[in-house]
Amino acid sequence: MTDLGAEAQLPAMLTQLRLPTVARLWRTLTETADRESWPAARTLAALLEHEIAERTQRRTARHLLQARLPVGKTIDRFDFTAVTSISKARVTALAEGDGWLAQGTNILLFGPPGVGKSHLAAALGHAMVDVGYRVLFTRTTDLVQHLQAARQDLKLATAIEKLDKYHLLILDDLSYVQKSQAETSVIFELISARYERRSLLITANQPFGEWDAIFPDPAMTVAAIDRLVHHSVILEMNTDSYRRKSAETRRLAKPAA
Ligand code: ADP
Ligand code: MG
Repeated sequence: MTDLGAEAQLPAMLTQLRLPTVARLWRTLTETADRESWPAARTLAALLEHEIAERTQRRTARHLLQARLPVGKTIDRFDFTAVTSISKARVTALAEGDGWLAQGTNILLFGPPGVGKSHLAAALGHAMVDVGYRVLFTRTTDLVQHLQAARQDLKLATAIEKLDKYHLLILDDLSYVQKSQAETSVIFELISARYERRSLLITANQPFGEWDAIFPDPAMTVAAIDRLVHHSVILEMNTDSYRRKSAETRRLAKPAA
């Protein structure tokens, strides 16, 4: 192939190799290189650097979409002065470091409704997606239904395995799951399967004392709690409802009629 022939093939070759960023930039960048007499290696490195940077960005965007995190619930929008029972430094450390995730450590967030459990869970999920991990945020009841359907098709093990691709699985509102409504032993199977390998982040209104209402029998409750807490960070958010407080502030801010 002559030089000219090879150049004419460039767009097709770049498409075949799936290098969209190089395909977009090569003409401008090689023109600059020619004009400024860059060594060929520098030109090649510059093009590949761009491809890698954009590939990382595209991957993060894809993971963010797949994570189904509630929108806008990030750490910088969380007002730590409203929750004195948890330390900002501790939560920031969890958001900035991925050591806990790499070790399969769990995070358990307890507190009454409205204190910001889901917000904080989503914020930690967001932070982990940003540094390249895969996360899934789900209401626990939805996941129980999904796993329960899989069990009926004799595909529970496969369904749990599929969740392995998520380094972090956020189960929001565990205490809304009641054993009377669903076969919750699937949650136990999930906890056991991820134990010491993959992290769970669980939010719940009730601390462990009330968990007998969730699992089919007390022995399973004990076994589930045992596995969850063995490597875990427990954050208790015992404060007034942020929802109620902000509604109250709005009410007081209204001028008297
Ligand atoms: P929970 O899951 O504990 O019931 P949420 O996380 O859903 O509570 O919080 C209720 C609402 O109040 C959400 O809109 C959330 O963003 C907001 N909120 C709660 N706590 C805080 C906080 N400390 N700073 C900022 N917003 C908060
Ligand atoms: Mg919530």
